[in-house]
Amino acid sequence: MSGLAPLSKTCSDSVMDVQRPANWPYPARCHYGHEWAPGRVSVGWMTCSDCEAARANDNGHRWVSCRNKGCLSIWYDPPYTGPTPQLRQV
Ligand SMILES: [Zn+2]
Ligand SMILES: [Zn+2]
Repeated sequence: MSGLAPLSKTCSDSVMDVQRPANWPYPARCHYGHEWAPGRVSVGWMTCSDCEAARANDNGHRWVSCRNKGCLSIWYDPPYTGPTPQLRQV
């Protein structure tokens, strides 16, 4: 991971018509600016005992990942505050 790419531009003319329920519990868009709405995200659960917030949340995080093609943006609730997961050496 080399960090998040900055948003290169904001084009106010090309706002997509995204229907989002009023009680949408997730961010309105991913770190890369893709609109999030039902059908545009995948939602799952990650067991975690590293974060204090996760331990108070049934030992895990809800995660929401962007389904935009090629986008790896993922959001955790509660926010992930534990150590960076170690990639296993092969
Ligand atoms: Zn995205
Ligand atoms: Zn955690």
